[in-house]
Amino acid sequence: MVNTLFGINLTAVAGTAWSSEDKQAIQEAVWRVATRLASATNSSVWRGGGTGYLATTFKAVYGIRDNRQLRFHLDPHIVNNQIVNYGCYNCRPNICRTPKDPLKTGEPNEYWENDLVINGEQDCDCKPIGGYTHTVRSIEFASLWDNYDSKGSAVKQLRKVNNVIHELGHAFSARLDGKPKDAVHAHSTTIGNEEWRMESRPLGFYVGDVSKYGTMTWVQSPTVSDTEVFADMFLGWVYNKWDDTPSGRVYGQERARFMNARMPGWIRDAMRKP
Ligand SMILES: [Zn+2]
Repeated sequence: MVNTLFGINLTAVAGTAWSSEDKQAIQEAVWRVATRLASATNSSVWRGGGTGYLATTFKAVYGIRDNRQLRFHLDPHIVNNQIVNYGCYNCRPNICRTPKDPLKTGEPNEYWENDLVINGEQDCDCKPIGGYTHTVRSIEFASLWDNYDSKGSAVKQLRKVNNVIHELGHAFSARLDGKPKDAVHAHSTTIGNEEWRMESRPLGFYVGDVSKYGTMTWVQSPTVSDTEVFADMFLGWVYNKWDDTPSGRVYGQERARFMNARMPGWIRDAMRKP
């Protein structure tokens, strides 16, 4: 129902299906993004506009038409520890795409925690997780990244929602031919980041929980690149949540300023595109 109204098309590779939790996460993410897009452009219209107005805004921003829906495609690539379908190299975590560095002997886990075990042997071909935005209206998920399920189900569901919002951030940047990610690149180093691993984090993103679990809720990608930083800033902007800790506040404020200043114009540019 919501999917139809917002022009969302869920597809899955043969033999798999979206779980109800995943479908719910996608709906919530789309709803949150649509609400934020609408409020950033014309809040007075949104107040009287309701769901139809939200859907119209969302579709215009992402260029969704009747004959070109926004497709979320599920393909885990691995079922029962067997590779069933090669592809989506970029769905693998960055740490899995990095050759193991023999100098980093003190932190082997970060390289191996997503490893596959095939026929009892560890395979260095890591398990795809999370999503990858191919084009503005084509997003593939190996999984909705709930990640580290030792935490409660509420946090787990929040991570799934945030994973979808992060991908919608990539899609938004793609809609504008990468202008937002280029703006991150051109900005002063205040919102740039040093290389980081699971144990540390770029400054300025919301710190809901300082553990590794919390880190991966509000910083969805451990890769420090213009495109990943923008996608996580899109996530922060959607919730209006930024780092408010003493050490990170200045970076959080800078990220908030960056997004609040640019998003309204970018949204209007996106809506005007064919
Ligand atoms: Zn990403």
